[in-house]
Amino acid sequence: MRLFKKRPYISLEKTTSQNGPSVPDGMFEKCPNCKQSVYVRSMGQERICPHCHYALRIRAQERLALTIDQNSFDEWDEAVRGENPLGFPGYEEKIAKVQISSGLREAVVTGKATFQGTESAIGIMDSHFIMGSMGQAVGEKITRLFERATEESLPVVLFTASGGARMQEGIFSLMQMAKTSAAIKRHSDKGLFYLTVLTDPTTGGVTASFAMLGDIILAEPGALVGFAGKRVIEQTIKASLPDDFQLAETVLKNGFIDQIVERNQMRMVISQLLALHTYSDNKVKGDKT
Ligand SMILES: [Zn+2]
Repeated sequence: MRLFKKRPYISLEKTTSQNGPSVPDGMFEKCPNCKQSVYVRSMGQERICPHCHYALRIRAQERLALTIDQNSFDEWDEAVRGENPLGFPGYEEKIAKVQISSGLREAVVTGKATFQGTESAIGIMDSHFIMGSMGQAVGEKITRLFERATEESLPVVLFTASGGARMQEGIFSLMQMAKTSAAIKRHSDKGLFYLTVLTDPTTGGVTASFAMLGDIILAEPGALVGFAGKRVIEQTIKASLPDDFQLAETVLKNGFIDQIVERNQMRMVISQLLALHTYSDNKVKGDKT
């Protein structure tokens, strides 16, 4: 048997467990898209896979650091919290646990920031918080974001990342679809600009409401964008679906996304779009008369 024993080619680090060569934790990561092993440092701050250009899921704080002008973020409604309206068993404990692991109070962070000098309201969903699911707190924060942006005549930039409605809140989470959409309509009626950036994954009730209501809809490469999951659809229609089904690139071809933007270009593209679509109060009034 000795004949067939595999010998290690290189020794990366001595281990105490005597199990042969190993790699220090966190040095390599498997890309969830192309499944290749990626040297973490080669992905850069943007966390882009060098093999397939897939933009890995990042946290809200990382997104803020990559997107807005340094130290320009003013957080709004930080204290908004959800309840357990259906008395779902273990829900409060789950929230408390995720709050500690994610460092967030809820699945969306909202506020105001500047993008290369242009002021805008901003919302960032984080899939690390119960898969960015939308419950009462998320719906309330997004609604307040649009209401305040409407009052202050600000555009809104919203990064979506969500598995959809939060099942533990049942109908209360589904109601957020109508509530957020109504606030967006009032913002739009005032002639204000709304930009959505769909990140991986944007699905379910979030796709069916505020994610798809942007005046301009951008997406990150390789993002999953859809309503019902692929398996659910396959089981319903009793047919198999193509591999690229619900990929941002396919959704772009079908006309639901305006442009796919690499993460390292996102800051520049958003800043340009905001500068193009932001008017002073006087100009808005002037245009209407
Ligand atoms: Zn990859």
